[in-house]
This record gives sequence, C-alpha cells and structure tokens, in this order.
Amino acid sequence: MIDYNAVLCNRIKEIPPSGIRRFFDIAAEMDDVISLGIGEPDFQTPWHIRDAGIYSLVKGFTKYTPNAGLTDLRRAISDYLQRRFDLRYDPKSQLLVTVGGSEGLDLAFRCILEEDDEVIIPSPSFVCYAPLTAIQYGKPVLVQTKAENEFRLTADELRAAITPKTKALLLPFPNNPTGAILRKEDLEAFAAVLKDTNIVVISDEIYAELTYGQHHVSPANIPALYDRTVVINGFSKAYSMTGWRLGYIAGPHPLVEQMTKLHQFGIMSAPTTSQYAAIEAMDHGDSDIAAMRDEYDGRRRYLLDGFRKLGFSCFEPRGAFYMFPCIDSTGLSSEDFAERLLREQHVAVIPGTAFGPGGEGFVRVCYAVSMKDLGTALSRIEAFCQSLK
Ligand code: PMP
Repeated sequence: MIDYNAVLCNRIKEIPPSGIRRFFDIAAEMDDVISLGIGEPDFQTPWHIRDAGIYSLVKGFTKYTPNAGLTDLRRAISDYLQRRFDLRYDPKSQLLVTVGGSEGLDLAFRCILEEDDEVIIPSPSFVCYAPLTAIQYGKPVLVQTKAENEFRLTADELRAAITPKTKALLLPFPNNPTGAILRKEDLEAFAAVLKDTNIVVISDEIYAELTYGQHHVSPANIPALYDRTVVINGFSKAYSMTGWRLGYIAGPHPLVEQMTKLHQFGIMSAPTTSQYAAIEAMDHGDSDIAAMRDEYDGRRRYLLDGFRKLGFSCFEPRGAFYMFPCIDSTGLSSEDFAERLLREQHVAVIPGTAFGPGGEGFVRVCYAVSMKDLGTALSRIEAFCQSLK
C-alpha cells in the first residue's frame, strides 16, 4: 500500500488550509444562513459581456490563444489602464493575461523568490500571500497594520521590516479584509525607503475599481516605483466575473517575460471564451463598474452606520467590499464570535484571524449582498449582542 505521508511534499503539508473555508462548511449544513462571508460580488456579469463570450463560441473561437493572451485583449487592457489609472504598459511586452489574479500572484512569487528570501506582507490581508511565499521556500514577514493608521502600511513600518534578505514587498490595497487604501503620499514615502534596494513591489490591485471617495493610486503611478512594480489585476471583482477566471499582470518587461514563460509551461493560455468577454468588459464596461460601485457604496454606508449604532467601533473602509468591525467589546475572540453568530443567529462572517494574527479582535463582513440581507443580518447581530449581556 502506498504511504501518502511519505510521497506528499512536506512544505505543502505544513501549510494550514484557509481559515475561510471552515465557516463555509459549517454554513453549508445550515438553513436560512445570511452569508456575509464569501468575498464575491452578488451581481451577474453584465449581459453585453456575457454575450461577447457567447458570440465567441458561436463564431467557433474555441482554440488556444497566444500564450500572453489575445493581442486584442492586451491592447484593450493597455488602453484601459491608461484611461482609468494613468498607467502606461506596452501591450506586446509588458502585459500577460492570467487565470485570475490568483495565477498572477503565484507567477510573481515563483519568478522572483529563492530559498529564504523574505516577502514583506502587510497583515491582516488576503489568505494566499503567505502560503504562496512558503511554497517557494520563501519567508513571509508579516507587518501588522493598525486601526489607528487606518490599516495603512507606514514607511517606518516598512523600513523596520527590511533586511538584506528582503526580496519583495506585497502591497494588498485596496485591502481585503480591512477595506484600507493607500494615498499617493504613502507610496512616495515607500519609494524613498526602497530607493537603493533591489526590492520588487507586487501590488495586488484586484479591488482598484472599488474605492469610495478617492480614486485608486497604484505604486506604478509613482515614477520611482514604476520599474520595480508588478501590478496584479483581474476581472473577478470589478466586472463580477469570478467564474470566468481571468486576470492580468502588468509590469517591467524582464519580469513579465519570465512570468510568460512559466505561464506558457503551466497554463498555456487563459480561457479563450473569457478573453473574448474581457475585451468587451475593458472596452465598454466602465459604466457597469460605476453602477456596481455606487451600489456597494450605498451598502457600505448603511452597514457602517448599522455597526456603529450597535456600539461596535469600526474603521470606515475606503475600498473593496469588506468591513472590519472590532468585536472586542463583546469579550469574545474572533473565532468564537464568528462561530457563535453563525450557529445561534445564522449569519456567516469570517474571523479576522483568518487573515493573519493582526486580525484578532475583528471580523470580516462582506457587503456584496443585497440591502435586504444586510438589514436582516444587522437585526440578527443585534439579537446576538443582546444575548451576550
Ligand atoms: N486578491 C485579493 C485581495 C482577493 O480578494 C482575491 C479574491 N478573493 C484575489 C486576489 C483573487 O481573485 P481572482 O483569482 O478571482 O482574480
């Protein structure tokens, strides 16, 4: 009989599973659950984008595309990045179409990390950065961001985290789970810190379109950071296209070239139907994004007001579609709060600890759900808090 323990790679076995999944498994067994857990838009992909995917099938576009993605799609991404974020990338040499932002992140880590290289990761943040670093034999260096700094990374914190082994700085803004964003001044201060180093900035900008009140600024907008920045972005969140599995990388040619090579061997090319739909999204999707963003913004204000009325202290999120209320006042740990709220009131939220040790004392609440569900969830959370007294 085969000994699976002996064949499986230790490095992979040692990585704990995502702390998000456990709550979905509990919720899946229950009735009448309002899930504020999953980080996925509740909208359907706009029809004109779906149509473009469907027509591509009707026309028989069912083959591989060029490894880096359809030429037309890379042209559309390049136009879009310039139009929306004032970022300039050459479609032929600086863009790569990937299987979601997820593949983009994986490629970025795989192309730069050697054994023991350190990656600075502001925490709390999305669940994949530390495992992807560890899979490459690298070392995640978590830097706790603080509520009093609006969960932004500060230049002093960055400076203090740098060692001779630092290879990359991961910038997860707009942030999942806190909703924090960075300002241009923050990025300029980072540029001064990174100036004489060889540190690469990997900027996860999957929520770049979802900011409220302030337009997104990318590290690549800072001239001194452009040459060292790899931008990861995608279609999942902005266009409500999670299932299409499409994203892209924009960055300096020497890095994109190596990532394209790896993508060619591991993936071949991103899904063809999705790429045709994505051209439509890039060329004609700006108003869809604006409409969804307005809707999220209304929900954001409503939920923030609701949490504050219930007595929770809550940082006002400026981006993405998450809220990160502090639950210290309940006397419960994040895990206990989330588990009891789910079992007793059938509302799913994610304990802050799923996003790193800095998440203790908080829960992540996703407001990509209808106003009606948000209202019901708030009433149930109120009942839960009453029951604790
Ligand atoms: N980055 C962040 C911060 C995310 O929240 C997610 C999805 N939850 C991703 C990347 C990956 O998105 P996708 O692969 O669907 O593009």
